Amino acid sequence: MDMLTKQRTTAKELVQKWVEQQKNSGRTEQELRQTMFVYGDEVMEIDINEHQELHVKEKEDIIVFRKPEPEPGHICRCCTMEYDTEKDALQCCAYID
Ligand SMILES: [Zn+2]
Repeated sequence: MDMLTKQRTTAKELVQKWVEQQKNSGRTEQELRQTMFVYGDEVMEIDINEHQELHVKEKEDIIVFRKPEPEPGHICRCCTMEYDTEKDALQCCAYID
């Protein structure tokens, strides 16, 4: 079983578990319908089939745009001042020793 298949199974299981919990707490299938789930890069939606049963529909062709991670600054370990370069950060409190 490859990673992707494994993740998909887990995601679907999570949704099914969630649906069970919601139904146990009294929510109807109509209320749960069209709830969408995002798990990593996967999107799933609850739908009702022709037999009026809930099922989990996987959305295909999802594009996820991620925000870029902020660049960690170079921080002096003594006083935690932030610098543009590692060298500057190292020199910051170097004279104190
Ligand atoms: Zn410093």
